Amino acid sequence: MIQVAVNGYGTIGKRVADAVRAQPDMEVLGVAKTRPNFEAQSALDRGYPLYAAIEDRADQFADAGMEIAGPVTDLVEAADVVVDATPSGIGAKNKAMYDEYATPALYQGGEDANVADVSFNARSNFEDAVDADHVRVVSCNTTGLSRVIAPLQEAYGIEKVRATLVRRGGDPGQTSRGPINDILPNPVTIPSHHGPDVNTIFPDVDIDTLGMKVPATLMHVHSLNVTLSSAVDAADVRDHLADEDRLFLVPESLDIDGAGKLKEYAHDVGRPRGDLWENCIWEESISTEGRDLYLFQAIHQESDVVPENVDAIRAVTGAADAAESIETTNDAMDIGR
Ligand code: NAD
Repeated sequence: MIQVAVNGYGTIGKRVADAVRAQPDMEVLGVAKTRPNFEAQSALDRGYPLYAAIEDRADQFADAGMEIAGPVTDLVEAADVVVDATPSGIGAKNKAMYDEYATPALYQGGEDANVADVSFNARSNFEDAVDADHVRVVSCNTTGLSRVIAPLQEAYGIEKVRATLVRRGGDPGQTSRGPINDILPNPVTIPSHHGPDVNTIFPDVDIDTLGMKVPATLMHVHSLNVTLSSAVDAADVRDHLADEDRLFLVPESLDIDGAGKLKEYAHDVGRPRGDLWENCIWEESISTEGRDLYLFQAIHQESDVVPENVDAIRAVTGAADAAESIETTNDAMDIGR
């Protein structure tokens, strides 16, 4: 069993811990938090040993009646791999600790690409991360774009990708984020950082991205235009994308008009936390005009990177190849059904 530590038990970390626990070949050794709060309490309620990310704050946990198993260094030392899911920039600061204990580490998309040897998307470049010591699982938006680019590039060849990313202002728990009543070009400069981030996975793909922010917490929505190498039928593209387990083609028959109903659907079918690990592509939006392909997709920012972290754990530990890992992860989490 691969012993996994999760350092940073917030939006991403708590989901990764549950996904790891669901795998047949992995165990959650423990999770680390900086301070006691509802997430620390729920980690204990779920039976995850809780470690203090900042040693001199351990008393705060005791005062809140939460039992601490030890300092985060104990957890990192004992683990086969650590998933760092701390806020942007903290992962880079934690890197020296992971090196000190020679524990391979995964970082998240909020870190600069240069924190790691490899930026990772399971469908696109799993092999690059095999046996690496520092791997960055790319952001929610880059994951969402990569999952579409990989099969399109393989099947048709890509001349150019253009994407406008309509981004949620903040996650549901992020009360300090916004806007609450505005529509922002964000960043206002073009291209946004997302295109260069996609190039960390696909160095040769020509891509321009534009970002916006809107008063929503549910999901991001991408408007995508891909110029393919040759003219293709929309029906052909639909069939091709339908074969991908981490792409959910939202059928017209479900009458889902936006992110709100998608999230409602996820809750109705019993998804944990209402998570949508797959890109949600409106099937009827998949259209072609000559070589130009168009589609709309919604990306659940809180959860699409979670199966990618699970696959990255197998890559860095050399536990499975890409196909085997992706299948195991999908089976364990019921992804694609
Ligand atoms: P979050 O704020 O929800 O969770 C971070 C957790 O880390 C919190 O529990 C915080 O208390 C804890 N923490 C802070 N400092 C720490 C430290 N020094 N040691 C250990 N724990 C510490 O953040 P998040 O949304 O889960 O984001 C984590 C990373 O994932 C970031 O790089 C982010 O860019 C990336 N990411 C976030 C999303 C998203 O939409 N939420 C999507 C994809 C990737």
